[in-house]
Amino acid sequence: MTSGYDIVVGGGSVGGLSFAIGAASRGLKVLVLEEDDEIGEPEKCDGLVSLRAMRRYIPPEEACVQSRVTSGVVHSPSGLVASLDASRFEVVVIDRSAYEKQLASMAVSAGATVKTGVRVEATVEEGDAVKVKADSAYSCSYYVDATGPVGILRRNRLRLVPAAKYEIQGDWFADGEVQVFVDQKKYPGFFAWVIPRGNGTAKVGAAGFGINSFKTLDSFLEGRTYRTLTRVAAPIYVGGPVEEFVSGRTILVGESAGQVKPTTAGGILSSVAGGSIAARWVTESIGSADPSLLLGYQREWTKEFGDEFRTMKRLRHMYESLSNPDIDRIVSALGSKRVSERLAKTDFDFHATAFISALGAKGTLQLASILLSAEARQALSSLA
Ligand SMILES: Cc1cc2nc3c(=O)[nH]c(=O)nc-3n(C[C@H](O)[C@H](O)[C@H](O)COP(=O)(O)OP(=O)(O)OC[C@H]3O[C@@H](n4cnc5c(N)ncnc54)[C@H](O)[C@@H]3O)c2cc1C
Repeated sequence: MTSGYDIVVGGGSVGGLSFAIGAASRGLKVLVLEEDDEIGEPEKCDGLVSLRAMRRYIPPEEACVQSRVTSGVVHSPSGLVASLDASRFEVVVIDRSAYEKQLASMAVSAGATVKTGVRVEATVEEGDAVKVKADSAYSCSYYVDATGPVGILRRNRLRLVPAAKYEIQGDWFADGEVQVFVDQKKYPGFFAWVIPRGNGTAKVGAAGFGINSFKTLDSFLEGRTYRTLTRVAAPIYVGGPVEEFVSGRTILVGESAGQVKPTTAGGILSSVAGGSIAARWVTESIGSADPSLLLGYQREWTKEFGDEFRTMKRLRHMYESLSNPDIDRIVSALGSKRVSERLAKTDFDFHATAFISALGAKGTLQLASILLSAEARQALSSLA
């Protein structure tokens, strides 16, 4: 049995490594165990983040930034288009693998130990310790579960959406312009996307409840000229935060805690925030031998993201009930000059409230009537 660590972290990605940086730099002995052989590989995420928001936690170094996003385009099922000027948002595409390596190196500099190629097999709480079974048996005060989709799978598997992501070379997308393709028949409950990352390359993906993600992405790309560079499938989570971030001596961080936007499944910022906030409260709790201080973690994360995530969850619920003609009507409303000008002044990470306020009174009434007809349709079909 190896003892001497205050914390063992399962999962060496954005959530787990942000935790390790925060806890090790405050003097705790931290061990991170990552099952993949190399930090950041294989890269499963597209790396779209707001630099402005990331600066509040652990910003990516300039070398991680692949390109800057200047506009967003939404394509409706029937081919209507709404464009948005995104130049004020400071949204960038980062090399997610390079960012994770940056975090790992910061964690090690702060004093943490990071082991790769080591899988956490099981954890058991015994008195005031947790036993972690991995390449060896470890005993520590707390276990941080930062295993991402694996962690959330045990808690809310129904809200995991199959997704596929390719990196491609092509000439039919423009640098700086992120495109989203919405169609409830092809991508139920989600969408397909194109995120250019410079030099004629892009990250393209498709996700949707019940789809075969590779097949769906292949048919999205049919008729477009491209060369595939990498290909990966990974689920994305849209169910919102779990009820309790702390349970006994286990602390959930990042996607494992459901800290992922229920709308777009973006989770880099909220997971880095989760790791950073948790580290502060865990250190305080251990330092003053007061376990009740651990509750401060969930309180602080919820103060920062709770309202917005609740609104996003409601928007998602509505979105899943919309038909393709409903979406056409919404995209047409979003395409109006007045709404797109308002949206351009909002916030990338707090987009749910911004979306509703940007619609204005008239737009909100229009949206409400679309939603009411969608709800009525659903009620009628369940009666039938
Ligand atoms: C296709 C796709 C595109 C995305 N695009 C974006 C985007 O553009 N912007 C954005 O903000 N978010 C995006 N996301 C979401 C984002 O990637 C996640 O929300 C974020 O990575 C969550 O971080 P995490 O550290 O909690 O978990 P993960 O990043 O999932 O990391 C979990 C880590 O735990 C390891 N692990 C799992 N089980 C064990 C075990 N038993 N023992 C040891 N290690 C283990 C895994 O190997 C992994 O490294 C995307 C996700 C997907 C799938």
